[in-house]
Amino acid sequence: MTTVDLGVPRLRRPGSAGAGAGLPTDRPATPDLLDRHGRTARDLRVSLTDRCNLRCHYCMPPEGLPWLERAEVLTDAEVVRLVSLAVRDLGVREVRFTGGEPLLRKGLEDIVAATTRLRTADGSPVATSLTTNGIGLARRAGALAAAGLTRVNVSLDTLRPDRFAAITRRDRLADVLDGLRGAAAAGLAPVKVNAVLLRGTNDDEAADLLRWALAAGYRLRFIEQMPLDPHGSWQRSQMVTAEEILAALQREFRLVPRPGTARGAAPAETWDVVDDDGAHLGDVGVIASVTRPFCGDCDRTRLTADGQVRTCLFSTTETDLRDALRSGADDATLADLWRTAMWGKLPGHDVDDPGFLHPTRPMSAIGG
Ligand code: SAM
Repeated sequence: MTTVDLGVPRLRRPGSAGAGAGLPTDRPATPDLLDRHGRTARDLRVSLTDRCNLRCHYCMPPEGLPWLERAEVLTDAEVVRLVSLAVRDLGVREVRFTGGEPLLRKGLEDIVAATTRLRTADGSPVATSLTTNGIGLARRAGALAAAGLTRVNVSLDTLRPDRFAAITRRDRLADVLDGLRGAAAAGLAPVKVNAVLLRGTNDDEAADLLRWALAAGYRLRFIEQMPLDPHGSWQRSQMVTAEEILAALQREFRLVPRPGTARGAAPAETWDVVDDDGAHLGDVGVIASVTRPFCGDCDRTRLTADGQVRTCLFSTTETDLRDALRSGADDATLADLWRTAMWGKLPGHDVDDPGFLHPTRPMSAIGG
C-alpha cells in the first residue's frame, strides 16, 4: 500500500535546500510538483478523516468501513506542516479539505485558519475550501468563514426526504438544507452543490435540482458516478452520463456553453442558464470524469488522512509521508518525496477502459 513507485529517494542531510538532490535524475530542477507529462499540481486535496456520518449506498456499506486507527491519522499539527510545505515550497495555490466528512474533524477551524494564513512563494493567499455533506455546517459556517475559508461545496443528490434517507441511509435532509443556508448566510458564497445521479434512484431529478439551485442562488454541479465504491459494483452501463444529464436539463432549460469553453484544469464544464429573453439565471456544471476525462489538464495532488500522497483518485500506489515525517525527516526530504511521487503521475486514469483497475481504497478513504 505504501509504495514509492519510482524508487526510494536518498535521504539528505537536514538543512540541505533546493530541488535536485534525491530526486529522479530525469526530472527538471524545479521546486514545483511537475510530472513527466508536463502537468504541474497546484490544487491540493486533503482528507481529514475517513469517517462519515452518512452511509451513501454508492460510497459506503451500511456498517461503515474498517476505519483508520486514531494513531494512523495525521494530527492537526502534522496536517498543517504538510499543507504549509505544499504551499510554501511545492507551488500549491489551492487547498480543499475533504474526507470522509471533514466536519467530523474537531480541529477543522484551526487547520483552516493555519492554512489561510499561509502565503505562496509569490506572496499570494491560498484559496481554501471544503467539500462536505453539510450536516452541522449551519452551526460551524460562521467560525469557518472567520477562519478564512473561501468557499464550500455541499454534496446533495436529492431534494426528496424519502430518497435522501434511502440514498444516505440517514434521515438528515433538513440538516443539509440548514447547512446550505448557514453557509450562504456566513458569506461562504458562491455555495456550490455537488450531485451524483444514480440510475433508477434519482436520475429523474436533474431539472428539479437545477430549478431549486437557481432559486436559492447555489451553483449546481453534477458529477458522473465513478468506479470508487467499496464493493466494486459500479458498472459503466448503469452510470448516468453527462450527455444524459444535459439532455434532461435541456428539456426544461436553455443552456448556453460558457464562452471560452476550454475548462483548463477546472473539471466542470459550465453552461449558463438563460431565460427566453436571454437573461442570465445562473449556471450549471457537469463533471464528466468518466465520459470526458480531463486528465491531460489535471492539476491535483492528494493527501489522505493517514498521510499518503496520491497522484490521482484512481492511483494504485501511494507515497508515505507520515512515516517519513514521524521518523524525523526534514522539510526538504518530505518535499522531495512529494516531488518524486508526482513525477510518476500517470497520464490518465483509464476509467472508461475495459482494462481499468479499481483503486485499492474507496472514495471515502481517499478524499473525494
Ligand atoms: N463527506 C463529504 C461530502 O459529502 O462532500 C466529502 C467526501 S464525499 C466522498 C465527496 C463527494 O464524492 C460527494 O459529493 C459524493 O457524492 C461523491 N462521491 C462519492 N462516491 C462517488 C463516486 N463513486 N462517484 C462520484 N462521486 C462520488
